[in-house]
Amino acid sequence: MVHVSFPYSAPVSQTLFDRAAAVTPGGVNSPVRAFRAVGGTPRFMVSGTGPYLTDADGREYVDLVCSWGPMILGHSHPDVIAAVQEAVARGTSFGTPGEGEVALAEEIVARIEPVEQVRLVSSGTEATMSAIRLARGFTGRAKIIKFAGCYHGHVDALLAAAGSGLATFGLPDTPGVTGAQAGDTIVVPYNDLDAVRAAFAANAGEIACVITEASPGNMGVVPPGEGFNQGLADLCRENGALFISDEVMTGFRTSKAGWFGVDGVRPDLMTFGKVMGGGFPAAAFGGRADVMEHLAPVGPVYQAGTLSGNPIATAAGLAQLRLLDDEAYDRVDVVSGQLRGLVTDALSKEGVAHRLQNASNMFSVFFTEREVRNYDDAKTQESFRFTAFFHSMLSQGVYLPPSAFESWFVSTAHDERAIEKIAAALPSAARAAAEATDPTTEATA
Ligand SMILES: *Cc1c(COP(=O)(O)O)cnc(C)c1O
Repeated sequence: MVHVSFPYSAPVSQTLFDRAAAVTPGGVNSPVRAFRAVGGTPRFMVSGTGPYLTDADGREYVDLVCSWGPMILGHSHPDVIAAVQEAVARGTSFGTPGEGEVALAEEIVARIEPVEQVRLVSSGTEATMSAIRLARGFTGRAKIIKFAGCYHGHVDALLAAAGSGLATFGLPDTPGVTGAQAGDTIVVPYNDLDAVRAAFAANAGEIACVITEASPGNMGVVPPGEGFNQGLADLCRENGALFISDEVMTGFRTSKAGWFGVDGVRPDLMTFGKVMGGGFPAAAFGGRADVMEHLAPVGPVYQAGTLSGNPIATAAGLAQLRLLDDEAYDRVDVVSGQLRGLVTDALSKEGVAHRLQNASNMFSVFFTEREVRNYDDAKTQESFRFTAFFHSMLSQGVYLPPSAFESWFVSTAHDERAIEKIAAALPSAARAAAEATDPTTEATA
């Protein structure tokens, strides 16, 4: 499928992958982990410390995925581990309220001014699904507007023109989602306020909400243009719809108050996940109290969860958030800036057409010259160059996201040694990208 030779084998990972494939579809529990976009054997990781992961074959990697964002303090941070051990020693789940959930909710409300009330759930998918149900229940309207290339988890209604795994696989849509589930979803191009205005005009009085990634990271990093988020907020208010900002990826990552802390645009509802769970399944949705009060048991909109607010997950999340002060974000920003510079230098030296885009410390490389403002722009990139680049980095002990359509993530634990290891790997990876050929044109030549 992919025309690169894999620089070395990973026999133990391969054995595990074969075992996994027998009992799990594709051998993985989340599609992008299968390496389908880049080919080769997915690495089965056995441990993580600071900026490093160790795989089942005993090789060490500098990790630039950080569990797709959550591990912003690096792996096995001693304070987070201690909080988890303390919590787990008291029991694992009670199915009753507990103080840890209150403390985590208070921390979120304290950090993010538009969030007056918050409810905890277990995944980002649950958070966006619940926020949309609430928006529909609150407004009494059915239709929602989303953007092509924005991913909000695998919610049925939101799997139309979603990025991430779907961008990687180029699936136009997914079987299993019915017309009824997706029919009330209107998909418009990102960064295009006129398209949103037109969608409101064509569906007057019918739009419950607009949902957007606060700053998209699931088609690669594509920040909102100047005034875009404010324009969305204004259009929602003018049309009696709710503005939902999905901060599952950006929340507590792009600043202390997430992307809201960067652009200050006030949504009606927000969703969170990833960093707030400290590596455990914890997520949340929250916002205006008058909207949140429509949720059961106060209001009529039903929403629930057996493990919601789980004591171990909340302890991990709270410990991580309490360590994320201004200094921590400064450190992550510095690391991100250093890496962006190193990547651009290496690719420029080899004459590889590329564009580095970032949203505070989140960044990604597009193998194209053009500015990427939406999903169509992103899809023009030469992904085959990424494949070669990825495998060269992997063979030199640097673990990148196994797709050209994903953000790279760094942590406070990425120190000089880790950065030097990346810097040393970049020149030959850039050369591999320069020398890569397009397998689709090769086949016809
Ligand atoms: C990861 C992500 C989700 C889904 O979260 P899960 O915990 O994987 O269900 C939703 N929205 C955004 C913006 C994300 O990045």
